[in-house]
Amino acid sequence: MRSALHHWLVALGLSMILLAEHALAGSLQVLDISQASAAEVRAQRQSQESVGWWLEMGKQLVLYGDPVESDLPLLASYDGIDPNELLLRARGCSDHAIEAGELLARGGRWELRRVPLGMQRALNLTRFHAWRKLTPNARIARQYRLDAPAQRGAADPALQAVVDRIDAARWFADLEALAAWDRSSYGTSELSAARDWIAAQFDGLGLDDQLQPFNMNAPGGGAITRFNVSGAWTGSSDPQRWVIVGAHYDSRNASGSSTVNTPGAEDNASGCAGVVELARALLPSQPAASILFICYAGEEQGLIGSSAHVQSLIGAGQLSSVEAVVIMDMIGYSADANLEALYESSGSYTDYLQRFGAAAAIYVPELAVITSTNPFGSDHVPYLQAGVQTVLAIESDWDIYPHYHRSSDLPANMGPNALAMGGAILRTNAAVIAEIAGVDAALFADGFE
Ligand SMILES: [Zn+2]
Repeated sequence: MRSALHHWLVALGLSMILLAEHALAGSLQVLDISQASAAEVRAQRQSQESVGWWLEMGKQLVLYGDPVESDLPLLASYDGIDPNELLLRARGCSDHAIEAGELLARGGRWELRRVPLGMQRALNLTRFHAWRKLTPNARIARQYRLDAPAQRGAADPALQAVVDRIDAARWFADLEALAAWDRSSYGTSELSAARDWIAAQFDGLGLDDQLQPFNMNAPGGGAITRFNVSGAWTGSSDPQRWVIVGAHYDSRNASGSSTVNTPGAEDNASGCAGVVELARALLPSQPAASILFICYAGEEQGLIGSSAHVQSLIGAGQLSSVEAVVIMDMIGYSADANLEALYESSGSYTDYLQRFGAAAAIYVPELAVITSTNPFGSDHVPYLQAGVQTVLAIESDWDIYPHYHRSSDLPANMGPNALAMGGAILRTNAAVIAEIAGVDAALFADGFE
């Protein structure tokens, strides 16, 4: 009797384990959708929903549950995956998050990782804002081309004139000038020299330049004063409307508190030089709206400079005058000749995001745009949190840039595609900013009237 019951209990236990295994562990496939049509992606997602769920991660489509038939290339396949072990990990500019578990897929600025529950508990991942539970059937990042209208829009001569003024070699020379200084967030004379150089560029362009002081904590305790540096263009006919073009000029290396060996060529002399280059390209067209060109300090310590700027706008009652913000952070590295940029905002501003994809399709067709509505970790965040229409432009290979946050982040190490990559992002941004600010074609129609 005892023996029979024992056997029965063992059998029951085994089948319960098998049931649990079946309920918990599924297979996960990663498909390459870089060449897929919008219809193919949609069909794949819909058929997956009946047997599991999907995540769209830019050029990768993740399918969980029983596999369904597909003609799309399979990048990877994993069996016995417990969905509780799946987490999204953000890779942010100011973030040195831990690399736990196994990387399964990557898209936008996010990674899908398998982190066993024991490891999740040991690491206490809730302490790190970079980790998120995932929501099934969600777009983490989206290739703009999948949403692009079949008929490409026509170029506007007024915008084309601004786009054509972007000079990638001039931008890179500015980047080299900035990267020659140790622009550590905690540095003193070198950071100030870079700041004053930026102010001189704005001044030389006829902008109204200004230093905005703010305090932040020093590594050894106590407070230090740092400065945002800005140059203001007063709109030619619509000066009460404002557009902000920003990037951080401070830098760091792996130590975080070091004051030396922080050339920060890609992160973020590239974006800061981009702010100056956009001013050069836009101003000759005398934009109708006002534009604030601004470089922030204190980004690497938690977006302190950009937060201070947002607070000052709120304090002055000027926040509602800001129509759009464009932030650039790491715009010049591409691992290969395929140029790809990520434009990131919040879900409230998808139309704004689409404008950058549409502008690239018309003015910079060699640039593939990927959009994402899961913002984190750069100077766009304080503006988004204040309810301002804001985008971050970042190249898509920043997380595999070997010199990220290292003393080797030098102009020469940005590789052979830097001019093409930076130029593509700047021309795209130039088109959108010119369109929002308003520029007049008549100024350039010399000889045609
Ligand atoms: Zn950065």
